[in-house]
Amino acid sequence: MHCPVCGKDHICFAHDFSSRRHEIFSPCPDCNRIIRNKSGPPDDSPPPPCRCGKAFIDDVYARLYLLLVDAGLFSGDEPLSSVGTPLIDPGIFLRSPPFLPSRSLLLISSVFDADTAHRAYHEVPQISGILKEGTNPPGIGDRTDVLPPVSCEQELLCGCDVRADLFPTSKGTVAVYKKQGAAHIEFPHGSDPKIRSVEAAIRRVHPSIFVDACSGVGTLGIAGGILGVHHVLLNDPWYAAAFFSAFNLLVNKDSLGLDGCTFSTDLPHLSHEKVQDDPISVAEGYGSEKVVEVFQGRMEMLSPLIHDHPVLTVFDPFNKKQFRQNQSFLSGWANTVGGEVFIP
Ligand SMILES: [Zn+2]
Ligand SMILES: [Zn+2]
Repeated sequence: MHCPVCGKDHICFAHDFSSRRHEIFSPCPDCNRIIRNKSGPPDDSPPPPCRCGKAFIDDVYARLYLLLVDAGLFSGDEPLSSVGTPLIDPGIFLRSPPFLPSRSLLLISSVFDADTAHRAYHEVPQISGILKEGTNPPGIGDRTDVLPPVSCEQELLCGCDVRADLFPTSKGTVAVYKKQGAAHIEFPHGSDPKIRSVEAAIRRVHPSIFVDACSGVGTLGIAGGILGVHHVLLNDPWYAAAFFSAFNLLVNKDSLGLDGCTFSTDLPHLSHEKVQDDPISVAEGYGSEKVVEVFQGRMEMLSPLIHDHPVLTVFDPFNKKQFRQNQSFLSGWANTVGGEVFIP
């Protein structure tokens, strides 16, 4: 599938990942693993990538390090770890460091300038993109007392920052793509506690509708749909989250049981109004036994859109502690929407 940001054909369906997820970052018999000390500079030049095309992550870091020294951005005394934070694509739980195939590493770094990042993209085939590390996490904060809400995005220096994370459920893998420079970092675990809590709540409530009220890029709502709820509603006030919630319906179309998906808008249009109050429709997925609606808006304004019962709602805000203290919102939700609510 084509990427909605760069237009290149680097998007996979969830079912493409499930069959080969254990091979993506595994070595071939000829791959060479030399674990490097991350707290000092690399002590030798990295070997060329293996004939299979993969390179061990420490060697990729060493190549980036030498490039930064050559560009004058490193003196040569910095530790290897200061190159940046690695995010593999797709993000999966690994028991040992990865052997990286082509265009599988998004780097978040405060060191690179645009010229050196472009050089890295051309000289190091494992790099899919480099984001400039900022001081605030990308996305919007959970503070409801600041209007308009504070929002932040990281600058993309080269390549593309759209990447996937994979989350296993008892009914198959959820694959969620995101524009990483506009999204929080999620780390997939071997068994994800949030997904487990969604499974337990659905088994207990048997909801007619499952509402993922601050959906991010749709992980929990899509998991609910895969786990058998017929009607799912996903919503997020942040444009990039709402858009990728909708895009991820396409990515997980087969396991959701969707025949198709109708988009009411696209990413460039949504980016004009990055934070939305009154919910607007982004997309609707439909199948013989499935409806998945996606909205961009404030969760405080969702209740008129929810009619089915029983309703199960998950709230997964970035700042859970502050959210739990928001008693007026939670009691308002109980009065207008009702049903069962959980914070995973
Ligand atoms: Zn892309
Ligand atoms: Zn190899």
